[in-house]
Amino acid sequence: MRIEVLTIFPGLIEGYLAESLIGKARSRGLLDLRVHDLRSATADPHRSVDDTPFGGGAGMVLAPGPIFAAVEAAQPVRPLFLLGPGGRRFDQAQARELASAPGGFSLLCGRYEGVDQRVVDHLVDGELSIGDYVLAGGEAAALVVVEAVARLVPGVVGNEASTVHESFSDGLLEEPHYTRPADFRGWPVPEVLRCGDHGRIARWRRAAALARTLRSRPDLVAARGGLTDQEVQLLADHGYPVASPGGAHEEPEAHEPH
Ligand code: SAH
Repeated sequence: MRIEVLTIFPGLIEGYLAESLIGKARSRGLLDLRVHDLRSATADPHRSVDDTPFGGGAGMVLAPGPIFAAVEAAQPVRPLFLLGPGGRRFDQAQARELASAPGGFSLLCGRYEGVDQRVVDHLVDGELSIGDYVLAGGEAAALVVVEAVARLVPGVVGNEASTVHESFSDGLLEEPHYTRPADFRGWPVPEVLRCGDHGRIARWRRAAALARTLRSRPDLVAARGGLTDQEVQLLADHGYPVASPGGAHEEPEAHEPH
């Protein structure tokens, strides 16, 4: 899988991607990550990439010239996505989509007030946002996307099962995890996890995942159409209070509209 990142701060990207899981995957040849300096194609002695906005206002804008020149010189693998708060919200489903795209993809990092709109209109294939907040630059966002995708590439994570059964993989959060000691400062590990009965453990995990998702992210449960009758029963069997946040099992409003 090839992923290319275009940025005015290549060091920020290289530093992060040299270590840990991704660093190892790169040295094993599983990931071909390339970083391009957007300043590389600048012609002036200051290697400037930004300019003041037409129409006035605060801040600087990344100019189209150096960005087009850098992309035309590097010919990064397509699709090429611009990172920006106005883009499609990046999520686990898209991470899976990108991880299964045969050729890979590229990411363009903005800075300052953002990039000239002609880059959006005529150069990139789409725009990705990592959430509803504003960063100082696209680099941290690019690293989020690279890491979320890279760990789904076969072989990158040692135990592949851990990327099949995890939060968001079936529209739910994952159940809580415990390791030794069995009793830490008087807080015990749930007894069921130490009983050795794998069927019972699997049912508890499913119930705990459902309960946790209902509590922390009821929107995820609603998005999958609420709870099935079996899930309601499973929660009840494990002593969790059941109140569906919507979807299939929601009771109609008691009062009539006037
Ligand atoms: N003035 C812009 C924000 C620019 S922030 C606005 O109000 O929309 C500077 C750069 O940081 C952007 O060009 C983009 O590349 C990056 N960035 C900021 N927030 C981001 C987010 N939520 N997701 C992805 N990239 C983001």
